[in-house]
Amino acid sequence: MLPRDKPVLVTSALPYVNGECHIGHLRTYVPADVYVRMLRKMGYNVIFISGSDTHGTPIVLSAESQGVTPDVVVERYHEHFKRIFEALNLDFDYYGRTDSPANHRMTEEIVKRLIEGGYVYRKNTKQAYCETCNRFLPDRYVEGICPHCGAVARGDECDQGCGKHIEPGEILEPRCKICGSKAVFREQEHFFFRLSAFADFLSSYLDNLGGTLNARNYAREWVKRELRDWCITRNLEWGVKFPGRDDLVVYVWVDAPIGYISFTEELLRERGVDGDEWARYWKNNGATIVHFIGTDIIYHHCIFWPAMLKGADYSLPDAVVASGMVKIEGKTFSKSRGIVVWAKEFIERFHPDTLRYYLLTQSSHTKELDFSWDSFFMRVNNELVAILGNLIYRVLTFTYKNFGVVPEGEIEEEVRTAIETARDGVLSAMAEYEFKKLVDAAMGLADFGNSYFQREEPWHLIKGDENARRRCGTILKNVLQILKSVCVLLEPVMPAKMAELWYQLGMDTDVHDTKLEELMKPIESGQKLNKPKVLFRRIEVDKNRGV
Ligand SMILES: [Zn+2]
Ligand SMILES: [Zn+2]
Repeated sequence: MLPRDKPVLVTSALPYVNGECHIGHLRTYVPADVYVRMLRKMGYNVIFISGSDTHGTPIVLSAESQGVTPDVVVERYHEHFKRIFEALNLDFDYYGRTDSPANHRMTEEIVKRLIEGGYVYRKNTKQAYCETCNRFLPDRYVEGICPHCGAVARGDECDQGCGKHIEPGEILEPRCKICGSKAVFREQEHFFFRLSAFADFLSSYLDNLGGTLNARNYAREWVKRELRDWCITRNLEWGVKFPGRDDLVVYVWVDAPIGYISFTEELLRERGVDGDEWARYWKNNGATIVHFIGTDIIYHHCIFWPAMLKGADYSLPDAVVASGMVKIEGKTFSKSRGIVVWAKEFIERFHPDTLRYYLLTQSSHTKELDFSWDSFFMRVNNELVAILGNLIYRVLTFTYKNFGVVPEGEIEEEVRTAIETARDGVLSAMAEYEFKKLVDAAMGLADFGNSYFQREEPWHLIKGDENARRRCGTILKNVLQILKSVCVLLEPVMPAKMAELWYQLGMDTDVHDTKLEELMKPIESGQKLNKPKVLFRRIEVDKNRGV
């Protein structure tokens, strides 16, 4: 587990704000949120940050095609993402944007340190140029053939083939993305980050990096093969200016992760903490830093980023947790081909908590998640409705009708054991970053609750003599204790629904602030229950299929 004596800084990958939020994004952000909420329940001091990634050529291209400036595009989608995240209860302490003055400052500072450290040099390099448009064509302004695998690729990334990063000047058969003409290569001076100098550092760093194996292993392979220096400047207006050069901005993958640092600074300033407190998190290893990302950006987070931090003498991330990619009904996710599920449309039709639950349980965190509507309906109907919802509603209506309050009685040994088993399952899932296991452990307790309730038949006992009625009360108190525990364990997974359950149980505290110690505290006899309401409703499969 993470050390107890330091604060934990958890980040989730920055969404690139040139389009709407889809479930591919949420596949990373929802588990990060669950992780943070559970760490808080475990008593950790946690800061959770993210923000919009606002620079780079795709945004400039969108803006040009719409006849607006890049900040108009950024503003629109930045607000969109914030609304979606609020609706899904992603509980960021701070959600910033990388075009903020603080991030410009922090980026300049780090680039200057890299220059002073001798890690940046200038070199003439070939850059794609369009003679029709009379301009250089950085990154997404150019398309062509991947030099590694031969697939059609974007200027900076082989997005449909091998997935590799493509350096400026490397793409074959370049074409201008604006006018379609064949591009030529022209020499131009650019600045390079000496990534090759970090090979030894990176291989020992990766040996000790926490998080998931997929991130570590993928990055190790890269380091073993080759680490080429990395061109970190672009001919663009939109971005963070390279120090001393008005005609160049830094590559978006330089200033994007630096957002993690400047958002920490912005958050602490917002909280009124003294100016240099952010340095506790990002210098001198004063915090445990955990990054949640998708597997498509392992390279950037496990190679570029730690090398940059090391070169500038900042703290290094302690763990990188990489979620598998998302497929839709067995097909590779693709916005351009319409193989996508939009977050906004989803949560207009179904409760956000059901989406959170689904994303966590449909596959192991590091494996590919194949979304299908049928599997979603099945998880809601067979698990949330049939197991959890059913237990909650049966127990609460029965107790509410016959007692109105939590009855007298002792918590039984087998119930204590079942709760402890669920808690231990959750804790080991946290240590492994396996959120499906985490939910399964909590749902296992609900399962136990169902069979315990069924076995003890309180509906017979309630009609019996005084002893039988007393026994009935004890049974119900025990099942209510199970419900209370399930509620605490599932709050990180379904925060809105569990707040409703907490209320129905008559608890007067805030379930979001509840710690795990609460699991073993008996629910108080005499506590008034609130009128039960159905928490999860069946989805009518035929009406909802195929949309
Ligand atoms: Zn390729
Ligand atoms: Zn052109």
